[in-house]
Amino acid sequence: MKKTAFVTGGSRGIGRAIVRRLAAEGCAVGIDYLQAREQAEALAAELRVQGHEALAVRGDVSDRGAVTAAIRLVEAEFGPVEVLVNNAGIAEQRQFQDISQDFWRHIFGVNVDGAYHTIQAVLPHMLHEKRGCIVNISSIWGQRGASCETAYSASKAALIGLTRSLAMELAPSGIRVNCVAPGVIRTDMVEVLGEETLSDLARETPMGRLGTPEEIAAAVAFFAGEGASFVTGQVLTADGGFIL
Ligand code: NAD
Repeated sequence: MKKTAFVTGGSRGIGRAIVRRLAAEGCAVGIDYLQAREQAEALAAELRVQGHEALAVRGDVSDRGAVTAAIRLVEAEFGPVEVLVNNAGIAEQRQFQDISQDFWRHIFGVNVDGAYHTIQAVLPHMLHEKRGCIVNISSIWGQRGASCETAYSASKAALIGLTRSLAMELAPSGIRVNCVAPGVIRTDMVEVLGEETLSDLARETPMGRLGTPEEIAAAVAFFAGEGASFVTGQVLTADGGFIL
């Protein structure tokens, strides 16, 4: 049976790889984007040419009304969302004493409130059907400390708490909630660190390299698939051994 998936921040990086992978697995995919309309439309067109169903929709996850409207557009096209991937996220390095309330709220508004908004938007149908799968993208920095990344790290740790608690609450209703914690993955998000730091991070990784968006998409596909039918509340760390 074809499932409808909704991927936040799906136009580039890890989100784009998740969109491609879920489409390949047979999902009709809603590609949520913030600003990159052309990229998101191009991705949807690429998938349609391959015979998949995909729709690009604009939706700021920190804006409850906007992202809910984006989800409804996708549902009008493909049917209710059964696979929700909360991938949209922002990171910025800053020393803790320099973090303003606005900065703190912005990071949490996207990384944590975003998941709260999307999950509440898709939950009524999932509860009615007693079926559904939610995957939150956290980070290894939500599992261990990261100097100068306190807001990001705290927000990603919050996603892990959300995942575990919601998994317990929703398990009796047949809804699974899981989390992927990527290590350092080569995307726009980490480009700001510069080549030298990225090379150092690759050297610090037991597998000796950075990860790819496709390797994170594979972890998401596992949680979304039938092979994970008895798996809920879990955090799958995909980091080449970085935090071992
Ligand atoms: P990225 O910056 O390329 O992608 C982030 C995506 O989120 C972008 O498409 C962006 O437009 C979108 N986004 C940002 N704010 C949004 C908002 N308010 N509403 C909707 N979309 C919004 O980075 P990425 O590496 O692909 O990151 C994807 C996810 O993976 C993020 O949650 C990130 O925290 C997480 N992650 C990344 C790494 C890494 O090393 N790249 C490591 C651990 C976790």
